Amino acid sequence: MTETIIGIDLGTTNSEVAVVREGQAQVLEIQTGNKLLPSVVGFSEDGTLLVGEPARNQYALYPQRTIRSVKRLMGEDSHITLGEQQYTPQEISAIILRHLKSIAEQHLGEEIHKAVITVPAYFSDAQRQATREAGTIAGLEVVRIINEPTAASLAFDSEYPDQKVALVYDLGGGTFDVSVVRMERDVVEVLASHGNNKLGGDDFDQKIIEHIEAHIKETHQLDPISSPQTMARITQAAEAAKIALSDQPYVQIEEEYLLEKDGVPVHLSLELARHDYEEMIADYVDETLRAIHTALEGARMTVSDLNEVLLVGGSTRTPVIARRLEEELRLQPRSEIDPDLCVASGAAIQAAMIAGEKVGNVLVDITPYTFGTSAMAKYKGELYPYTFVPLIKKNTPIPVTKTEVFYTIFDGQDKVEVNVYQGEDSDALNNTKIGRFMIEGLSDVPQGNPLLSTFSLDLNGILHVTSQEKNTGLENSIRIDNAISRFENEEMAEATDRVQNLFGEPDTQDDKRRENTRAQALIEKAQRLMEKASDDDREDMVDLIETINDALQADDDESLEEAIDQLSDVIFYLEA
Ligand code: AMP
Repeated sequence: MTETIIGIDLGTTNSEVAVVREGQAQVLEIQTGNKLLPSVVGFSEDGTLLVGEPARNQYALYPQRTIRSVKRLMGEDSHITLGEQQYTPQEISAIILRHLKSIAEQHLGEEIHKAVITVPAYFSDAQRQATREAGTIAGLEVVRIINEPTAASLAFDSEYPDQKVALVYDLGGGTFDVSVVRMERDVVEVLASHGNNKLGGDDFDQKIIEHIEAHIKETHQLDPISSPQTMARITQAAEAAKIALSDQPYVQIEEEYLLEKDGVPVHLSLELARHDYEEMIADYVDETLRAIHTALEGARMTVSDLNEVLLVGGSTRTPVIARRLEEELRLQPRSEIDPDLCVASGAAIQAAMIAGEKVGNVLVDITPYTFGTSAMAKYKGELYPYTFVPLIKKNTPIPVTKTEVFYTIFDGQDKVEVNVYQGEDSDALNNTKIGRFMIEGLSDVPQGNPLLSTFSLDLNGILHVTSQEKNTGLENSIRIDNAISRFENEEMAEATDRVQNLFGEPDTQDDKRRENTRAQALIEKAQRLMEKASDDDREDMVDLIETINDALQADDDESLEEAIDQLSDVIFYLEA
């Protein structure tokens, strides 16, 4: 049996350890359900060594006996005072590495002596050497130091077997870097890197912290900064709010008994909208986009040379990041591999390759389809009621839950129809409608009444869609079984039909299919003519298209024929 070599991502905020077992990269659990080890080391009051979560938990209260972000000091000739003792950065990193080594040993039931460790592409020789030394102190032979973007590229299964150029966008807790890499088979070369090692999710948290502070000052005339306990709670609440806003459009920040004023407890209760949060961090996001162009220049390339964009680091779960990248680079960033774990997985893949093992792709459960709803929004420059709004994008790991906000369009609007579609087209009518429900009895308020639509897709392919009036909690929902496999079945049925037709077998569905094809062709034609139609005609067409789709869904031949005839008439006059 070959000796196991572990792969380690020794991160600024978190570290992970992974191995390849039976050809698959696996990141090992530090505790049940948790694969991230906070890169924090400390001593408790009685002198016990704390690594990871317990050290992180005491940081805010006992910073003098806790150290975090030691990675920033690697390669520097500095000493860290922790309690009574002084340590080098290598020694502190070695404590983290030793912890990861022992976790791997517990999982694998064997002693581990060798590791591949990742470092940022911009690390100097001195920083790499310090990382090697940390490994040695921890009792690990560092068989190779590899660049983090290299590891990430190895973890994402390549869609380009010969050669590809990828942009690895890595935004973690405290650091940001972007690298242009060229991959030829299993050989990855970092062509250029750029970034800011003082920019990351912590800065995003800081913006929310300042927002909460300002709110407390304004509503209670109190300054929380004087109490470290209060600030520790605010810091945690800010990070939790930020993470919640990655999946929902609003978050309620609640902290009871946060402060006292004249002997009376002060509770924090503050709503934050994703839109406002995105404005708070806009400058940071802009900075990262500028860095991409610097890295591309360094690699003597342009945006059009890129085949793929790979997302790495926990902060890339912030939706505005993928959105802005897609706008800027015209490529949908790949995020199917957990952005916190892909560097460790890649390190394990590299380790297995060195050990001469066969390695397969990293296995992940993802949705192969995009799911979303339709709304009145700008489509090709005009307001259009069937603009597709994707909530769960294809290649997203499942299970997943995403919420978006929508608004009523009329004063006193008392109901809304929620249509659920699967597909990739920005016109919802070109996608497959898989469900529909009404939410009725909305409050009698002016237009702009917010409704929250939540899409949850589980591992069994069951999609739950819920819509809720934000201000009252009034809701309705639908459950769509086999949201994923049903299309495979449909595709299967279509394929069977096609093959049957080739062999000339009778098809009882022939008439139906002809009618269906006619309907689809008419709808497409109507959509092409929409732009030149008057407002009234356009409204008629949209209504008729809806009736046709409903009739198709409900198998209602009579209404279908009637609506098709009417739509043909409208088109006839428009074309005349
Ligand atoms: P890393 O250094 O890659 O482990 O990334 C850690 C950073 O990712 C921290 O700032 C986290 O708060 C942030 N993070 C983790 N999950 C999310 C999320 N769902 N949305 C936004 N940021 C996140």
